[in-house]
Amino acid sequence: MQSLRKKSLENLLYKQARLFQNDEKYSALFGRNVFSKTILENYVNKDAFNQIEKAIFKGSEISRPLADQIAVALKAWALTKGATHYTHWFQPLTGGTAEKHDAFFDLQLFGKPMENFDGSQLVQQEPDASSFPSGGIRNTFEARGYTAWDPTSPAFVLGKTLCIPTIFVSYTGEALDYKTPLLKSLQSLDNAATEICKYFDKNITKVIATLGWEQEYFLVDKALAASRPDLIITGRTLFGHQPSKGQQLDDHYFGSIPSRVLAYMQELEFEAMQLGIPLKTRHNEVAPGQFELAPIFEEANLSVDHNSLVMDLMRKVAVKHDFMVLFHEKPFEGINGSGKHNNWSLATNTGVNLLSPGKTPMSNLQFLTFFINTIVAVLTHEQLLSASITSASNDHRLGSNEAPPAILSVFIGKQLTGVLEDLENVSKGKLSPEEKTDLKLNVIGKIPEILLDNTDRNRTSPFAFTGNKFEFRAVGSKSNCAKSVTTLNAAVAQQLENFGREVQILIEEKNMKKDDAIFNALRDNLKDIKKILFEGDGYSEEWKKEALKRGLSHYQNTPQALKACVSKKSISLFQQTKVLTEREAIARYIVDLKEYIYQIQIESRTLGDIARNHIIPTGIKYQNVLIENVKGLKEIYGKDYLKFAEVQIKIIERISGHIQEINKGIVTMVEIRKKINEIKDEFEKASAYCEKVIPFLRDIRYHCDKLELVVDDDLWPLAKYRELLFCR
Ligand code: ADP
Ligand code: MG
Repeated sequence: MQSLRKKSLENLLYKQARLFQNDEKYSALFGRNVFSKTILENYVNKDAFNQIEKAIFKGSEISRPLADQIAVALKAWALTKGATHYTHWFQPLTGGTAEKHDAFFDLQLFGKPMENFDGSQLVQQEPDASSFPSGGIRNTFEARGYTAWDPTSPAFVLGKTLCIPTIFVSYTGEALDYKTPLLKSLQSLDNAATEICKYFDKNITKVIATLGWEQEYFLVDKALAASRPDLIITGRTLFGHQPSKGQQLDDHYFGSIPSRVLAYMQELEFEAMQLGIPLKTRHNEVAPGQFELAPIFEEANLSVDHNSLVMDLMRKVAVKHDFMVLFHEKPFEGINGSGKHNNWSLATNTGVNLLSPGKTPMSNLQFLTFFINTIVAVLTHEQLLSASITSASNDHRLGSNEAPPAILSVFIGKQLTGVLEDLENVSKGKLSPEEKTDLKLNVIGKIPEILLDNTDRNRTSPFAFTGNKFEFRAVGSKSNCAKSVTTLNAAVAQQLENFGREVQILIEEKNMKKDDAIFNALRDNLKDIKKILFEGDGYSEEWKKEALKRGLSHYQNTPQALKACVSKKSISLFQQTKVLTEREAIARYIVDLKEYIYQIQIESRTLGDIARNHIIPTGIKYQNVLIENVKGLKEIYGKDYLKFAEVQIKIIERISGHIQEINKGIVTMVEIRKKINEIKDEFEKASAYCEKVIPFLRDIRYHCDKLELVVDDDLWPLAKYRELLFCR
């Protein structure tokens, strides 16, 4: 039988780009399938609308009669959009999204058909939680979980289904998803930040975190991907020799977008716009076959939902264009992997970005307060923040000259470094009027000007200040943004609370004026944060040494990094900010370790199977061709045959050598896996997979890739890097 690879390549020759036609303006499409507040206003009375607004703004309860009213409105609206089903849409700890559809269709007494949906169905459902990761929280006798409506993220119609964003908790109330702790962290951050804002502006009654993610991804031809069980099963290529041309010419980045890809992007945008996802940017990324998209930033909870939703859409639209979209952080060895940059800031109900300098010295002091406290928070919880972005797949990407290493540092730029130095030099205690004027005019008064032309950006930093926001760049492309954003929110919330306490003490016990107290409390932190501020090349070897000297953590792999999730410091952060209970934090740690174990286990099994069932047989097939050839030469030339068959014989031997090594590797790897699988403790088991199994993945691959170079191209069963990466 002809190999799948050959068939796929032939198919490609006849393929034409699927055109996509849309003549409507994006502004007309935007939010068409979203049950927005404006739409709600048309469906319910003023009193109900105000109550819902209050619930969204301050997190107050929505009563059952009110929920019934909203349900009636939702159903009426969804039916106009052609919806036949509804679902509670949630984000379990698998990293994806989950949905279970129920029809609006119902039968009344005497069998009269109708469309039905009420408040109870809107507010709560009880999916079986037993097949979602729970880290041991779920009691075996109680498999039920609850999904509960999140009114802060609007419902939407996707295809013919009304999707209601929900949280997902166990029967006993513990969070089993990403949204629950995210919402709690946002609440905690709101409380702490609003308190601090009162020093500057009494009109500030709410602070929200804003998030703008940048999503990197690869597109490969669906038919070629089908010839790669490793891509299909693990999301990355476990084999594949480097192509002669990779990304060394830098000719892909920001290049003209291939027409087949552009058609894909256009259809994706068409779908996303209707769902209210404000996509703004699209471009080619560094690696061949790699692209990026980014929206306009939004309130963090909504933005997280939109990232999950867009990833789902990307998969679905890709199928229509005969593509497979890859979110794995490192699908191809030797070529840049994909990340997700989380741009994060804080905004007030008065429309102020707290990480953007303002027009007056006081508003700049406000900026500095949030700026410095965020850095302190990152320093305090650097280990936990690193743990929030770690995974088996992101381990491949971090620290390999394409992404920041697994050391957390903060880049703020030359100008702001200067401002912090000036601040540090102001004398301690109460400031004299002259000192204050000088500080206001010459230090903080100048911030907006210096930031205006602050163009220095450091692409090697994992956590960089970029003028009006921080950008967390170490996040993996595959991960749910909520994980890192929740941790950051919690860390900043805790720090702001501590800061508020310090300021209060200075005011009450040291009799300081408000701004003196703020200056002093800020200055107290400036020495400490130098430890984590770094302006140089984050990819360099010197930085690794320097970071070690500074006492910053540099974890080597995911199991090591994850330990921070259950440290005393982290648990107390989660408890203090009410983001997670100790039980929940431990459960999540177990979920992460298990995910790591399974991922490496699956990779190891897949690699073994492909090497045995595809690669060794292919090597033997080609070896047989060569043997036939040598036999033929012997027949023709008799004793002199070696003169003509020398190369062939060398290749025959080389093939045997690689086959032996591959087989030996697999046999030993399977033995080791068996032993490791007996380990009960999850951390020990994950570490064993990391230290003892991963090296085999590399060794076996090495020999398989060597065979790829030797064996007749016609026989090779797996699509090669040059085909996967450069197909259009
Ligand atoms: P790049 O990092 O590629 O240069 P930009 O800095 O222009 O791109 O923007 C990247 C992302 O940052 C976008 O998604 C944008 O919406 C987001 N962003 C801009 N301002 C904020 C903010 N105040 N809060 C959160 N995200 C923001
Ligand atoms: Mg960016």
